[in-house]
Amino acid sequence: MKKVRTRYAPSPTGYLHIGGARTALFSYLFAKHQNGDFIVRIEDTDVARNVENGEESQLKNLAWLGIIPDESPINPNSKYGKYRQSEKLERYNELINYLIDKELAYKAYDTSEELELQRKEQESKGIFSFRYDKNWLKISEEEKNKRDASGEYSVRISLKKNKEYSWEDIVIGKISVNSDDIGDWVIRKSDGFPTYNFAVVVDDHDMEITHVLRGEEHITNTPKQLAVYDAFNWETPEFGHLTIITNMEGKKLSKRDNSVKQFIEDYKNEGYIPEAIFNFLTLLGWTSEDAKELMEPEEIIKKFDYKRLSKSPSKFDIKKMEWFSKQYLKQTPNDFIKEKLSIEVNNEWNDLFVETYKQSATTFKDLKKALEFYKNPKEITKEFISNHPLNVLLIKEFYTNLENNIFSIEGIQNSIDQTKISTNLTGKNLFMPIRLATTLEEHGPELAKSIYLFGEKIVKERLKKWL
Ligand code: GLU
Repeated sequence: MKKVRTRYAPSPTGYLHIGGARTALFSYLFAKHQNGDFIVRIEDTDVARNVENGEESQLKNLAWLGIIPDESPINPNSKYGKYRQSEKLERYNELINYLIDKELAYKAYDTSEELELQRKEQESKGIFSFRYDKNWLKISEEEKNKRDASGEYSVRISLKKNKEYSWEDIVIGKISVNSDDIGDWVIRKSDGFPTYNFAVVVDDHDMEITHVLRGEEHITNTPKQLAVYDAFNWETPEFGHLTIITNMEGKKLSKRDNSVKQFIEDYKNEGYIPEAIFNFLTLLGWTSEDAKELMEPEEIIKKFDYKRLSKSPSKFDIKKMEWFSKQYLKQTPNDFIKEKLSIEVNNEWNDLFVETYKQSATTFKDLKKALEFYKNPKEITKEFISNHPLNVLLIKEFYTNLENNIFSIEGIQNSIDQTKISTNLTGKNLFMPIRLATTLEEHGPELAKSIYLFGEKIVKERLKKWL
């Protein structure tokens, strides 16, 4: 059996997007489940659209998520050629010339104006998906030679007539398209660069890719690519097209939609836990047989059965992502968090802080913010007090109880319990005023610990101000 090899082939025209990360992740899981290799290579022939750091952002953010390729532009295996398309132009041209020699491709001399005319003519006949009509055959020899000399031509593949291009899609099932519905398409543009549909086939072939997983928007490209495999008589990989990711309203996620943060970089900057995003992304179009959701990478790899890839769109639910991040933060070792927050590891206060706050925080940023409350405690202003009218009797009762107990977590808890009995208040009516008066926050983790962390002096000073 051939070794499974999958790939993720981003264009460095932008940073790593949720959709791209999901494609990369599923390709990675698919390969790893079968002890295969996962490859990242870069489709950078659309020079005008490339952005600076695009490649770096893709690779770095994948690594941050824990998706480490076996081969990539920075970790290539020379056996498979180059991992950036811009470095393979010679290879593409060699193959294009071969196809021209074999009359499986031809130079097409149409100018863009002529192509526009063809398109309009077809539209007037009700044909809206353009099919090239070999107009160049009608151009005079003299004109052809002139355009040839100045390089004003593109190269088109010569499709066989009435040929069915079909494949058994890993996700969707059988798909079939007739060559007559495609039309001879451009494999090399007049600027000398190969088109995506041509170069991608050469790369997949050169790298011995066995399975191509990518977004559904590429379904219409697959028959074109099958024609290239056919022209070279190359073995085709298997294809799987992943269904779209939508926002909560069911609309396809668009990079222009500012209501959802869509770049992995954003989540990294927000201090999300990468393992949580890895886990969350896994469920955007896949479920494990036992319906378990919270899983470490090893477990997911073990369970990643491609037959369970979803045929319907998946919703990007930020609330769910936050839930995952919370669960992972809770499980993160305290020392690791302390290092992340750049605070001393061997320190009792730091340990209690982390242990207390990681129970309810979503991101590292939340923890940093909470730490700030303690490191730079806010002064209570008159304005703050008048904006937060509290039950003074309750605060007084709590203060007295605090004075009668030792200032420890247990002593604070006793004071809360005693206040509960003497005031007959419970739940929110009891906890919220005490929390607000002592921590100046309305919400937070375990009350006694949150108070204790401020230290006796600050807590008592604050209570006195309320009184
Ligand atoms: N560069 C293409 C994209 O980003 C890759 C498509 C493919 O995987 O074949 O969508």
